Amino acid sequence: MQDFRLDQVLVEVGSEESPIFRSLRRALPDLPFTFVGDGEFGWADLMAGRDLLGQGKRQLLLMRHKGDFLKKCPGSEGQVCCNYFVINFASNCPMECSYCYLQDYLAHNPLLKVFSNVNDLLEEAHQLLSKHRRFFFRIGTGEITDSLALDPYIGYSAEIVPFFAEQPNALLELKTKSDRVEGLLGLDPKGRVVVSWSMNPQRVIDADEHLTASFDERLMAARRCQEAGYRLGFHFDPIIEYAGWEKDYGEMVERIFATVDYRRIAWLSMGVLRNTPSLKRIMRQRFPSTRLLSGEQVSCPDGKMRYFQPLRVSMYRKMLRWIRNASPTVFVYLCMESREVWEQVFGFAPSCEKELGNQMAHD
Ligand code: SF4
Repeated sequence: MQDFRLDQVLVEVGSEESPIFRSLRRALPDLPFTFVGDGEFGWADLMAGRDLLGQGKRQLLLMRHKGDFLKKCPGSEGQVCCNYFVINFASNCPMECSYCYLQDYLAHNPLLKVFSNVNDLLEEAHQLLSKHRRFFFRIGTGEITDSLALDPYIGYSAEIVPFFAEQPNALLELKTKSDRVEGLLGLDPKGRVVVSWSMNPQRVIDADEHLTASFDERLMAARRCQEAGYRLGFHFDPIIEYAGWEKDYGEMVERIFATVDYRRIAWLSMGVLRNTPSLKRIMRQRFPSTRLLSGEQVSCPDGKMRYFQPLRVSMYRKMLRWIRNASPTVFVYLCMESREVWEQVFGFAPSCEKELGNQMAHD
């Protein structure tokens, strides 16, 4: 995996007592560490000039998180939701996918933040899980960051995996486009942790997933995690349509099933490329040579633009056929798609989000 660049670490005063600070010091001895007061980051000065987003994600800010760590995944209006909770242990991502929605979502808040008060995170999770023991929680950490890209520097997995391994009513998902799994391999997940990869053919990775791990690296990392006792997930998202996509995606699915044990796969998801007019503007500025801006897309009820519905359905059906050829039983769901699309692809749509969440939790 190509190394992404960090320029400096900013440490909010008070965060120097945390285990995350000690990990950062150990892992990044050559980087300048600057202590800053609460809220005094002066990042606008630091980054005066061009490509605020690109520069922002190279400044790692270690700080306390003051609000709630856990929240329900907001989903997307009018789309079937999979009843998922998210833990935000960090904000922004050091990798550079041209289509990344964080470029728009964090446009005015682009520093790479890592939250130092991990004990508060664990206490909040403990309160929620113990109060609702009859409810099964699927919880992910990869909504506004990548779950593992920073792990060798911050050691977060060593803090949270042992906690979730002991929870009877939760499954933790660590979702990544990196191959940074070393911190996971010596821990015992006790069946309670799924490590998942967003997968695309190497052609798409080369063109649009900059600074991420290659397809082979992701797949090898998945195998190592499987061997270490983790369950696996794969997200075919965003699926990109281009001349010859069928060959690339068909081979990709084959390679995955030839490398990992399908019985260890907790779930697979599929979702096509989505964007918004404002994200497109940012992509045009930051990645002028991307070809993702040229295909035809239509506006959907949730405000996002996607390929025409008949094209989406046809793409999902082909993907599903390749997956079913390799494994007739693995659990597959659609990410951010309408009930209508679900019905055309699978012949049914979950009657409610709880039904889908339960199927995923117990499959
Ligand atoms: S890996 Fe994910 S979070 Fe990071 S830049 Fe790519 S899409 Fe965004």
